[in-house]
Amino acid sequence: MSLRRVVKNLTGQDVSLCQACLDCDFVIQNEMDIPLSSLIQLVLHDDEEALHTRTLWSDSVLEASRGACKRGLNLHAVILALRAESKRRTA
Ligand code: SF4
Repeated sequence: MSLRRVVKNLTGQDVSLCQACLDCDFVIQNEMDIPLSSLIQLVLHDDEEALHTRTLWSDSVLEASRGACKRGLNLHAVILALRAESKRRTA
């Protein structure tokens, strides 16, 4: 199942609605290897690299992701769903 579908099933969030506006891009030094907008693009391309980014696993990023998308996507829920999928795939 594609990462986009996994996220949709787990959270109801459709990341294909991302408009690549970059409004969610913030920087937390030493915690992020890619911005959140790039993480969403990896999901849209079903690229498993999304599951291995430092950005995904940073709890500081997770906290800051609340309300980070100005277009209504719940990025906090998306991150948690991707973490759960990563653990499922490596179990
Ligand atoms: S703010 Fe939302 S719509 Fe804009 S790039 Fe980030 S995730 Fe996509």
